[in-house]
Amino acid sequence: MEPYGAPQIHVPHLLNVNENPFGPSEALAQAMGEAVRTAALDLHRYPDREFEALRADLGDYLAEESGIPAPRPESVWAANGSNEVMHQLMLAFGGPGRTALGFTPHYSMYPEYARDTFTSWVTAERGPAPDFALTAAQVSDAIARHDPHIVVLASPNNPTGTALDLEVVRAAAAALAPCAGLLVVDEAYAEFRRAGVPSPLELLPEFPNLVVTRTMSKAFALAGGRIGYMVADPGIVDLVRIVRLPYHLSAVTQAVARTALAHRAELLAQVELLRTERDALAAHLRAEGYTVAPSDANFLFFLPRGDRRAVWQGLLDRGVLIREVGPAPWLRVSIGAPEDNTAFRTALTEVDPA
Ligand code: PMP
Repeated sequence: MEPYGAPQIHVPHLLNVNENPFGPSEALAQAMGEAVRTAALDLHRYPDREFEALRADLGDYLAEESGIPAPRPESVWAANGSNEVMHQLMLAFGGPGRTALGFTPHYSMYPEYARDTFTSWVTAERGPAPDFALTAAQVSDAIARHDPHIVVLASPNNPTGTALDLEVVRAAAAALAPCAGLLVVDEAYAEFRRAGVPSPLELLPEFPNLVVTRTMSKAFALAGGRIGYMVADPGIVDLVRIVRLPYHLSAVTQAVARTALAHRAELLAQVELLRTERDALAAHLRAEGYTVAPSDANFLFFLPRGDRRAVWQGLLDRGVLIREVGPAPWLRVSIGAPEDNTAFRTALTEVDPA
């Protein structure tokens, strides 16, 4: 077995792990430094185990972002990345004799959370390329067939970029409700969704078995801070609190997260530009004859003309690192700053000619 992880290669254009290419300003770095300095004065004590202040801040942010009433702190939970949040959910709700269902192609870590918790991982297929759509009927049928304890849906999905209609989420939550099955909707890329696409956060009051996970790693430009979170019924949060390790969220992490949330206007300021760059790159690739999956995320999933390994390597040789992930022969490219996206276009023309 190999540990999970994309190659860490230092080249000028890093378009492989869906980061936000825009770092914080000097002023914000100073503010984070000051918050860490204050936290450091108390580092001989364990951190606030329940991080109530951070949970309240996250609730306020979600209300602002998605137009839902601010979730109470008891409904919010955070950990070191949404990976850890989902791992904790699998610890609490999976286990020997229990089954979790996902839809391929999906984020590569889902089966690993299942493996780590001795949960059976079963899959059904999403609809055909290039849309990779998922309908309410597909989801309900797969749930009836597998009778899972947990269903994981991603919206927008990685690696395809596909967002889900609320009716699909509703169908999944309803199909699971009679057997108290848990529905996890992974919204890691939510802030990049196109205007008018609603968030499954809206469905939380309707379905006590629904969990929506989010992260500060993507739109929030805080991948290095390691903060992911979820919103759910307080009863679900309480069960996750049973399995979490004590003091899992360090005082430094909490300080950085709260400072980032207080400066969200700056950190999220480039989301609109990244959306515009995404749509422009998709249009360019299509004009060049490529098949591109419609994307509501900060990456594009596309079909190269040549061998995908050769195209990936050719781009890398030109200083552009993208990701060989998902079903062959598709490739995924993250949306970078305009100069990264231009470098990708130029390099692709050279390594994958018409
Ligand atoms: N969900 C999806 C769909 C992702 O693509 C990722 C990161 N690539 C994550 C969750 C986890 O991100 P993090 O742990 O940084 O929050």
